[in-house]
Amino acid sequence: MSDLEDRPSSLPEQTINTDVMIVGAGPTGLALACQFVRYGIDFVIVDQHEGVTPYSKALGVHARTLEIYEQLGLAKPAVEQGAIARKARLLKRGAVRAEFDLSNLGAGLTTYPYVLFLEQSKNEQLLYDYLKRKGKTVDWQTELASFAQTEEKVTADVKTADGRSQSIEAQYLVGCDGPKSSVRHRLGLEFAGSTFERLFYVADAQIDWHLSHDALQVCLSKDSLLVFFPLKGANRYRIVGTFPEQFSKDEGDVLYAEIEQRIQAEAEFDLDVHDVEWFSTYKVHSRHVSSFSQGRCFLAGDAAHVHTPVGAQGMNTGIQDGYNLAWKLALVLNHKADETILETYNQERLQNAKHLLQTTDRMFQVAAGSNWLLAFFRMTVLPLVAPYVFRLNPVKHLLFPLISQIGINYRHSSLSQPVGDGPFKIKAGDRMPYFQVEGESIYDKLHQPKFHLLIFSTTPSDVQLLKLELEDQDPQLVDFSIIPIDPQVAAVFNTNQAFTLLLRPDNYIAVISTDPSLNWVKRYLQELTTP
Ligand SMILES: Cc1cc2nc3c(=O)[nH]c(=O)nc-3n(C[C@H](O)[C@H](O)[C@H](O)COP(=O)(O)OP(=O)(O)OC[C@H]3O[C@@H](n4cnc5c(N)ncnc54)[C@H](O)[C@@H]3O)c2cc1C
Repeated sequence: MSDLEDRPSSLPEQTINTDVMIVGAGPTGLALACQFVRYGIDFVIVDQHEGVTPYSKALGVHARTLEIYEQLGLAKPAVEQGAIARKARLLKRGAVRAEFDLSNLGAGLTTYPYVLFLEQSKNEQLLYDYLKRKGKTVDWQTELASFAQTEEKVTADVKTADGRSQSIEAQYLVGCDGPKSSVRHRLGLEFAGSTFERLFYVADAQIDWHLSHDALQVCLSKDSLLVFFPLKGANRYRIVGTFPEQFSKDEGDVLYAEIEQRIQAEAEFDLDVHDVEWFSTYKVHSRHVSSFSQGRCFLAGDAAHVHTPVGAQGMNTGIQDGYNLAWKLALVLNHKADETILETYNQERLQNAKHLLQTTDRMFQVAAGSNWLLAFFRMTVLPLVAPYVFRLNPVKHLLFPLISQIGINYRHSSLSQPVGDGPFKIKAGDRMPYFQVEGESIYDKLHQPKFHLLIFSTTPSDVQLLKLELEDQDPQLVDFSIIPIDPQVAAVFNTNQAFTLLLRPDNYIAVISTDPSLNWVKRYLQELTTP
């Protein structure tokens, strides 16, 4: 729960002018605000609640999110506060039918080759504390009442903690206001999709049973879902499950006793669930917005997409939305790019949301679908093959990038220039692949919030010439590093030849080329300023 210091609405009486107004301080809004701090962008962030959520809600934190946290100095505390998913067990009536290792699924692909279990409340607290350390705050108990936009600005009216109306003028507004987003409603954007028939339940509690606390435990079932995620603390677990289709109660009407009854019935073995910290029930929707932006207003996080919790993608995707939008808004506000760059936010993140809904729907069907073939696969085939399949490199290299979100690419984006990427395994639009340079992660060189020019070379004389060429570039916009081509780099990129790549501030590849001159870099950066 928040303390008193977390509660004030510090908004003054007169109209406030700011660059960006963020509506909603859930994980999406807070993460976006943290990015604006990195870029030195002025913002106001409001939330109708009195502080960060006290509820655990989302749990899985993926590699791509930890890479972003790393740039904020938050990856280490997140890992320390969370629990790494080390193993998974498939259970049938309490007997272990299969067990497999999850701790190093993404080995060689990222500094964080696992899924971290860290409650949403703790993620929000980490992000909020970062803002406070940087001298920023959230205006809590402040609700968006209305807003209107012109070609020049957005004017919003909010209701503050003490009941006053306050006007805020911003260059841009971002609705991070969750699944029932009033920003989305007021923009009149469609939120098409479907709602799952079955009601989900979630509970955080301690469990006494015969199983050790070092694994994610999945109860195999013909037509439903029951999973126990280990949380930090003795015998603490997050329990997630579904009621059967014929269960007719609504979200708010379910008693905890009914959840416990369901857990006991579905598990089919002795377990003592006690010290319940939190429980909730919810209907799962699978929907995305028709456009992530309209004029000067943008949507991010659950305001733009909702889906099943299978794969733990919700919170992570919201954080990625903000990460994608922040640098583009920062470039525009700092007059380093034309406003047209903002169209690429919708281009890139709408495509991602569509893909996400397809994959989470499929994952849900595999995990809990009642189709007999899927049930047969889940009950009979999966326990036999899972321990072997999860050890296979090709499987790991397909599955981990998908779940961890490091596999998301923007190859189709107008910001990715495929000219020159022919010989490479990695293409324009891909996330910067992970590898080590002199024992350290390449990502250690990419913390600055700007473009990065990476010169991969074997001959120092080439580099001297390039250095001269680079001197007239804006150091606020682009920095550069020289990286020797060693066998690891050669394998990752599939070349021994010298090459250069330009990385966007979100560490996606804009251009990759063997062209030794840097004219293409200059052209790319110049084109950003062209309407
Ligand atoms: C019970 C439950 C369990 C979940 N479990 C999982 C899980 O296991 N894994 C997973 O990935 N996801 C899970 N989710 C989903 C996950 O919590 C969301 O994806 C995540 O919270 C999205 O973050 P957000 O910041 O976009 O939206 P939210 O967290 O909804 O935050 C929106 C914020 O906007 C504020 N707001 C709304 N309207 C206004 C307004 N008009 N004015 C001012 N402020 C406003 C709200 O107060 C809120 O703080 C779960 C959700 C619930 C409810």
